[in-house]
Amino acid sequence: MPKKKPAKESLTYERKSGYDGLSPADSKRMEEISKDYLAFLGEAKTEREAHDEAVKRLEAAGFRDLEALPEGARLSPGDKVYRGSAGKTVVAFVVGKKPLEAGLHILGAHIDSPRLDVKQNPLYESGEMALLDTHYYGGIKKYQWVALPLALHGVFVRPDGKKITLTIGENPGDPVFTITDLLPHLGADQAKKTMSEGIEGEGLDVLVGSAPSKDKKAKEKIKRRVLELLKEKYGVVEADFVSSELEFVPAGPPREAGLDRSMILGYGHDDKSCAFGSLRALLDLGAAPEHTACALLADKEEIGSYGSTGMESSFLENAVAELFNLTEGGYDGLKLRRALERSWALSADVNALHDPLYPSVSERKNAANLNQGVILTKYTGSRGKSGASDAHAEFVAQVRRIFDGAGALWQAAELGKVDQGGGGTIAFLMARYGMSVLDCGVGVLSMHAPWELIGKLDLYMAYKGYRAFLLDGRKK
Ligand code: MN
Ligand code: MN
Repeated sequence: MPKKKPAKESLTYERKSGYDGLSPADSKRMEEISKDYLAFLGEAKTEREAHDEAVKRLEAAGFRDLEALPEGARLSPGDKVYRGSAGKTVVAFVVGKKPLEAGLHILGAHIDSPRLDVKQNPLYESGEMALLDTHYYGGIKKYQWVALPLALHGVFVRPDGKKITLTIGENPGDPVFTITDLLPHLGADQAKKTMSEGIEGEGLDVLVGSAPSKDKKAKEKIKRRVLELLKEKYGVVEADFVSSELEFVPAGPPREAGLDRSMILGYGHDDKSCAFGSLRALLDLGAAPEHTACALLADKEEIGSYGSTGMESSFLENAVAELFNLTEGGYDGLKLRRALERSWALSADVNALHDPLYPSVSERKNAANLNQGVILTKYTGSRGKSGASDAHAEFVAQVRRIFDGAGALWQAAELGKVDQGGGGTIAFLMARYGMSVLDCGVGVLSMHAPWELIGKLDLYMAYKGYRAFLLDGRKK
């Protein structure tokens, strides 16, 4: 048989519509992945829920908890394990054929999203209403979070260790909550303020009740009624807010968007879309990879990655140390360092899409377009690349090779115009180990808004590229 001629390389770099050359099989797979993502996203609005949903899927696929393995257990190529931390972050591996020292292939995403956290002393009564005071989490445009239905997700933990998990506002029969806004008729003064001042952080208090307690002696009867209900339904008292983690998030499931159903509107695409893509890529490997494959779902990215469940902590390093012990019967600090330094990583996080309503903030040649593929972002940062994690050209070339080989459509883009602003991901924290890292994720419109929008094709291409990345054998 004559050797197949390689496709002629184009002299110019033309953007392609994602739909050009999309095979019927690809279209079908794209819809399957999107449907599964809708289910995942609906179940995983908070980092705790995303952790639990990931663990559920991992265990169903035969991944074993590292902590539950018997003493002296040994892992071999193809074995699947995971390790969670504090119920908010999880890292999963499929052991590769090569020794760990050859480096891992890592997909690093985050599972926290911007939201309104309930304060530790939140409940008060005013104007015949009971309200919960919140402290917003992550970079939000505050005016977007008022006058829409909110759901409450989270945990109370009692001093005896009893944990009460609750979700209110997601089932059709549930009540929802809301933050009120001023009517336009009386909004003249508010309308003169800047958008960042129109609604202030201390103005994001959520209305939770208006009916009084029957307790005649109580001073604040409406607040009392809320406490009575919390006691009745969940067995908690007011002081238990101190040891709670309760998050207000937009109520309701993600939905398909557009007449053509080519998009998904949902809460938390940043970064559940890439977290889901990474998780599915690992779950769908189908064979033992050459290099140990890893999907890392981190917490706290939206507030700087600090804390024991953020990427600043050592959970990845600790988990890889455990892997050494389980594959080689010991732990060698030098080998661990080599394994991390020789690793390849994609920082699987979202990027901004060009928005025709706001064309002035993007530089057209270097802005990503909706449904034109997963975005490769060589560097992040702001202004003069301040705070950027800048991927090596050599590594970007490897990722191009892998994605092209897998038919995963990609586009190269920056966040916005040079002087317009900026942002970062967990890339720089993975890069600390000396590993090669490239930012690579799904494009989002209305990022950090209660309802964000992504394209199905972009999600699918991310998944496809991620899977090929994990399976790659690093051909020279
Ligand atoms: Mn993100
Ligand atoms: Mn973000």
